[in-house]
Amino acid sequence: MDRQFDILIVGAGHGGAQAAIALRQAKFAGSIGIVGEEAELPYERPPLSKDYLAQEKSFERILIRPVSFWEERNIAFLTGQRVVTVDPQARTIGTAAGETISYGRLIWAAGGHARRLTCSGHDLAGVHSVRSRADVDRMMDELATTQRVVVVGGGYIGLEAAAVLTKLGKKVTILEAQNRVLARVAGVALSRFYEAEHRAHGVDIRLNAVVQCIEERDGRAVGVRLADDEIVPCEMVIVGIGIVPSVEPLLSVGAEGGNGVAVDEHCRTSLPDIFAIGDCALHANPFADGQPLRLESVQNANDMATTVARFIAGDPQPYHTVPWFWSNQYDLRLQTVGLSIGHDKEVLRGDPAGRSFSIIYLKAGKVVALDCVNATKDYVQGRQLVIGGAIVDPERLSSIPALKDIYAASPA
Ligand code: NAP
Repeated sequence: MDRQFDILIVGAGHGGAQAAIALRQAKFAGSIGIVGEEAELPYERPPLSKDYLAQEKSFERILIRPVSFWEERNIAFLTGQRVVTVDPQARTIGTAAGETISYGRLIWAAGGHARRLTCSGHDLAGVHSVRSRADVDRMMDELATTQRVVVVGGGYIGLEAAAVLTKLGKKVTILEAQNRVLARVAGVALSRFYEAEHRAHGVDIRLNAVVQCIEERDGRAVGVRLADDEIVPCEMVIVGIGIVPSVEPLLSVGAEGGNGVAVDEHCRTSLPDIFAIGDCALHANPFADGQPLRLESVQNANDMATTVARFIAGDPQPYHTVPWFWSNQYDLRLQTVGLSIGHDKEVLRGDPAGRSFSIIYLKAGKVVALDCVNATKDYVQGRQLVIGGAIVDPERLSSIPALKDIYAASPA
């Protein structure tokens, strides 16, 4: 007979793990199963491009919970299994290995896979993504014989990997297609600051770079050829050009969506008793004027998981959490709160030369986001301004000694 679970969670990342944890915290007593494509129990992904790659943290230390935690709570794992079909009428899923599993309710937390280059040489030995533990283990195996690394993509993955590899003594070149790094997630001033930091550490950053192909010798990558035919020689290529959400099994049976699967404020998809959370969930975000978007962050995965658990446990609470992110590069800790999409003004607080400052993003006069570099106080206090949609004179934002005093002095 097929296996069956009251709650079946597809995806054993941050969202999937947190959904199971939150269900048990909410005293949900039914059976819970988690199907995961990777071989491992849930682990934290952020360290993959930071301390795990730097070999400063072992795999055991990045597990979200120890094995005993899952056993004690009777949460079953089916690891190494990829879900390829969903039948919403029969309430079953099918795996690539041919197994069928029945569910009462399905929580789709499948995230996404690393986008790959499509040019010739994209699949050579020595070309890596940074999405899973296995990806990073493969990279680490090659580090001893690697001196030069080309990183394609100047997003978080590319910049964090470049910082670690530079510290390990590698010569790194970053190829970014746009005219600045972090273009999707930050304003111009922050991009320029990070470009200068990386260059000061010896990273060669090429902007507006168009990759033509990856050059090979004996089946291995030996360089990246740019559109103007220049070849940047290397022993390793790291590709950090975003993710593709894993939603095909849902969209192919009629779930609404496109770039992700559409969900409402309780993370319900348009299919009966199927929820979606995390990187793959396309939702109307209240901190982006209700614009439909996907958020690729641990915060979003965890908070959407809790939203679904509360709904299932009969204590629904719509998803309404201010987005936050962080990134560690060299001795810089970047903390972001809110979404700067569509901002029309940037206000600087503090001194970039002193390597502690914040950039506050305004949209139609309203504070919508902060990027804080080595400025945790601004991050914590500025959060309230984003949540409250504060309208504050830019001059005050840049000069007031503590952001928390803004409300005390003149409520927005
Ligand atoms: P990303 O943030 O989407 O950045 C990828 C960058 O690569 C974009 O600027 C993109 O430009 C550029 N690009 C795309 N195609 C390219 C090409 N052919 N050649 C050169 N550049 C190209 O994605 P990511 O850095 O790969 O990160 C993947 C996911 O992990 C994201 O969700 C990210 O937020 C998450 N992550 C987060 C953290 C953190 O929060 N600290 C750390 C690591 C990873 P276009 O916009 O024009 O495509």
